[in-house]
Amino acid sequence: RSLEEVLKAGIRDIPDYPQAGVVFKDITPLLADHDGFAHVVQALAESGKDEDGNVVVDKVVGIEARGFILAAPVALALGAGFVPVRKKGKLPAATYEESYALEYGEATIEVHQDAFAPGERVLVIDDVLATGGTVEACLRLVRRCGAEVVGTTVLLELSFLPGRERLAEEQLTALVTV
Ligand code: IMP
Repeated sequence: RSLEEVLKAGIRDIPDYPQAGVVFKDITPLLADHDGFAHVVQALAESGKDEDGNVVVDKVVGIEARGFILAAPVALALGAGFVPVRKKGKLPAATYEESYALEYGEATIEVHQDAFAPGERVLVIDDVLATGGTVEACLRLVRRCGAEVVGTTVLLELSFLPGRERLAEEQLTALVTV
């Protein structure tokens, strides 16, 4: 199966979730399919390599919660470390925090201040890019730690939302765009 077929079969639309009028992209069928999941992890990991196949990242960041599921196996595949970016109040040691606007209200995410050594090269992974607010805040966190963002890779980009424009300055890769 091609990556395209795997993604098409493994991501389903859930209408009116989490609220009326929103069509939620659900990746749980993809995760339940071993071959599909393995294929996707391999494809995501390509973002952490140069043209010759050399690994160019020291750490892979996953954004809570679905980003964890994807970023952790990518980190292992690359021989890199894994760093969780979590919702406020979940990390035990000293953190940096960044807030961003949601449709209604605000969200805050955090990272441990000592999660990276200065200058470490970082790949950020998340499941879905929508408005881009989450990734943008995550990139601010990584940079505040003194690390270098090599790129951001998502499974799925929703192109009817302005995520890509908002992240125009960034190296952004999506396995599939709808
Ligand atoms: P953004 O900040 O608007 O780009 O939203 C991205 C965040 O919301 C990601 O961390 C996603 O996990 C989550 N998200 C937004 N829309 C969807 C969706 O349709 N399916 C799964 N996750 C979504």
